[in-house]
Amino acid sequence: MRRDALIVGGGPAGCAAAITLARAGCHPTLIERSNGPTDKVCGDFLSVDSIQHARFLGVDPIELGAVPISRVRLIHRDRVAESELPFMAVGLSRRVLDEALLDQARHAGAIVHTGKEVRRLTRDGSKSIVVLADGNALSAGTVFLATGKHDIRAHARAWSGPRAVGLKMYFDPRNELARILEGATELTLFPGGYAGMQSVEGGRVVLCIAVHQKAFKQYGGTWALLTRAIGQFSPRFAEILSGSRPLLPNPLAIAGVPYGYRSPPLSLFCLGDQAAVIPSLTGDGMAIALHSGLSAARAWIAHQDAPAYQRTLGQALAPQMRLAGWLHRAGVNPGFQPAVVPLMRFFPSLTRLAAARTRLPGRLSLLPDPTRPSGISSPHWGQ
Ligand SMILES: Cc1cc2nc3c(=O)[nH]c(=O)nc-3n(C[C@H](O)[C@H](O)[C@H](O)COP(=O)(O)OP(=O)(O)OC[C@H]3O[C@@H](n4cnc5c(N)ncnc54)[C@H](O)[C@@H]3O)c2cc1C
Repeated sequence: MRRDALIVGGGPAGCAAAITLARAGCHPTLIERSNGPTDKVCGDFLSVDSIQHARFLGVDPIELGAVPISRVRLIHRDRVAESELPFMAVGLSRRVLDEALLDQARHAGAIVHTGKEVRRLTRDGSKSIVVLADGNALSAGTVFLATGKHDIRAHARAWSGPRAVGLKMYFDPRNELARILEGATELTLFPGGYAGMQSVEGGRVVLCIAVHQKAFKQYGGTWALLTRAIGQFSPRFAEILSGSRPLLPNPLAIAGVPYGYRSPPLSLFCLGDQAAVIPSLTGDGMAIALHSGLSAARAWIAHQDAPAYQRTLGQALAPQMRLAGWLHRAGVNPGFQPAVVPLMRFFPSLTRLAAARTRLPGRLSLLPDPTRPSGISSPHWGQ
């Protein structure tokens, strides 16, 4: 039987799978609903794992103008604590990163359809059928589900825990804000959530907020009311935003984020946020997305089935997901928040440890990849 692969979703996970499959000589088809470069709800923080994976896939964030980040700052009310990150990181907008990954997928030989939305997935014997919003259908032997934060009906991720809302805006910073954020990512804690701020390419600043749905409603349910409430809680937040010009006509928003979700073994290859949703404060979601896309493609090439891939991925991610879940619960809990900044001040090594332990598992060793030109290494996660 001809082994054909269809990838639904062209974010980091879908592109990583498409590039890996295409490089191996398969001819995957990728379907992406947005048509052209798009802003997406995400803090735009690329951890070392994301950078390594993106480079391995042929996309260098630094060449795309990414801004280096070496420090993390935690803020609660008027208290600030700062620590060096134990790894390199950068800020790069998803508009730029995702488009570069899609281009790379095309370049590697994948057939990429943009502006097409998948509405339904069904099966017909040994084939999967993908039904598009325009009524057309495509069939394939294997489907890789990489729709990220968006569920396809009948394949919605089951999650009984609390769900969060994600919101995002870019700013043209006044000089003071640009200076404050130079080389740093800032996380402001407020009851029910946290707000991340950092620089990205083009001299812009991104503000991305994660807040529990219930808390968001209590704050009034709008961007304006939420940011005003955060500003009242943390004067620094209000001060650094005042005078900065919003650059999008409206904030971007996504609801129903199931922080902590991990997919059970399914007959589909679930990638990225469809496989696992790590709390945003770790800034490692894109690394997991890229890693899962790469490993699902490699598993498929090696004739492994989807449940086996899913089990291996789930086991590998379990420790970092557990710690991230714990940090997230502490980070949004008004009872615990006052202790966070003093803890970080007195035990800066704890912050570095937490940051290191919420990365992809194992020791990152850079092994020469025989399929790539010399000088480019393959991300490999060993013991
Ligand atoms: C508030 C917030 C802040 C975050 N900040 C960070 C951060 O700073 N750093 C970090 O590493 N991670 C962060 N994350 C996590 C990160 O955004 C995700 O883990 C990552 O985007 C997952 O990649 P993905 O490819 O699985 O999905 P996505 O990035 O969501 O991409 C999915 C793609 O599929 C497409 N698609 C969706 N539905 C369909 C359909 N029906 N048909 C066709 N195409 C479809 C979409 O258009 C999209 O391009 C954050 C998440 C949130 C919620």
